[in-house]
Amino acid sequence: MFNEICTYNRKEKAYILTLPDGPQHAFPSGPKGKMEAYRFWLSVIYPTYFAIANQLAEANPHAERTVWKAIEIAVTPDMIDPVHQDELIAMVQSASDPYGRYLVSAADTNATEPYLLCNCPAYQELTPVWLILDDTGEKAMQVCKHSLAVWMQMQVNQPQPDEAQTFFEPQPISA
Ligand SMILES: [Zn+2]
Repeated sequence: MFNEICTYNRKEKAYILTLPDGPQHAFPSGPKGKMEAYRFWLSVIYPTYFAIANQLAEANPHAERTVWKAIEIAVTPDMIDPVHQDELIAMVQSASDPYGRYLVSAADTNATEPYLLCNCPAYQELTPVWLILDDTGEKAMQVCKHSLAVWMQMQVNQPQPDEAQTFFEPQPISA
């Protein structure tokens, strides 16, 4: 994962990111440089997730922090445990509490695109942020980092329109 391959070099005053295929990339010190390194790593290793997060962050500057926190959960192995049982959608590991898992569930299980809820304190007690989910601004959902991480995984795992179309190719009619 990112933290294992991105190290801070005190002498160079830079974050050094070593990608799996070898090349090293340097980023300036400070939180901004580390974030740059993180985004670059995402764009190389998880381009689909990166594209989704980038689009969401641009459309929702007020929720940028939630977007980047959610993507970290979405790409970290074993953070999301899908359950898909009745209205249960997934259990998401709490980043701060090793004992804690939060339940992300759909408000309406029959909806083609479920509106997700979360039982974490941030979602229940504070006000979850509104997020615009598409280009038109018609789709919006109140999210915390857990429900948004599950939503991102659903977007990445759903079949792409191009692939789906091949199932509907017209068949020649036999005489
Ligand atoms: Zn939550």
